[in-house]
Amino acid sequence: TPTIGVLALQGDVREHLIALAAADALARPVRRPEELAEIDGLVIPGGESTTMSKLAVVFGMLEPLRERVKAGMPVYGTCAGMIMLADKILDGREDQETLGGIDMIVRRNAFGRQNESFEAAVEMAGIEGGPVEGVFIRAPWVESVGAAAEVVATHDGHTVAVRQGNVLATSFHPELTGDHRVHALFVDMVRAAR
Ligand code: GLN
Repeated sequence: TPTIGVLALQGDVREHLIALAAADALARPVRRPEELAEIDGLVIPGGESTTMSKLAVVFGMLEPLRERVKAGMPVYGTCAGMIMLADKILDGREDQETLGGIDMIVRRNAFGRQNESFEAAVEMAGIEGGPVEGVFIRAPWVESVGAAAEVVATHDGHTVAVRQGNVLATSFHPELTGDHRVHALFVDMVRAAR
């Protein structure tokens, strides 16, 4: 059974811990660099990416996280977590840092005001049994992806899920739906990488 951490600086950590456990992983919150050594994969939750970036610096996590991602640790980011995994972001704060990991440009809060939060059925490559319920909350979209990155879901013509190697990112929040198929896909990615 793989041990999967949830980055617990800020955001909906608890929901991911529950979803991972339901998908047969050992799930635990991760806050300190030492704790990174004990995990096989990591989830970066939804929340507020500017705050998460700031806290990653304060907790001395930014470089250790970047190194683990570069070394090939499987990572899955939802919403703010997707922003953290982008090599480049648009509409970020001036001093906002990301870990990178996916060759993509992500636009924060892209769906705009009238549409700040909504739900939509989303077909996702690698997920069987019909569309997932996409919960979008002040969600980013992916403006463009590089050659190494694969678009795995779109909504309204916008890319909302991307995979590059062991790194997966969704604009939406499967951890809020009770449908654990996306977490199960990630747990499989972690198993395959071990
Ligand atoms: N808008 C948030 C950000 O820019 C993300 C929102 C979310 O994670 N639900 O970080």
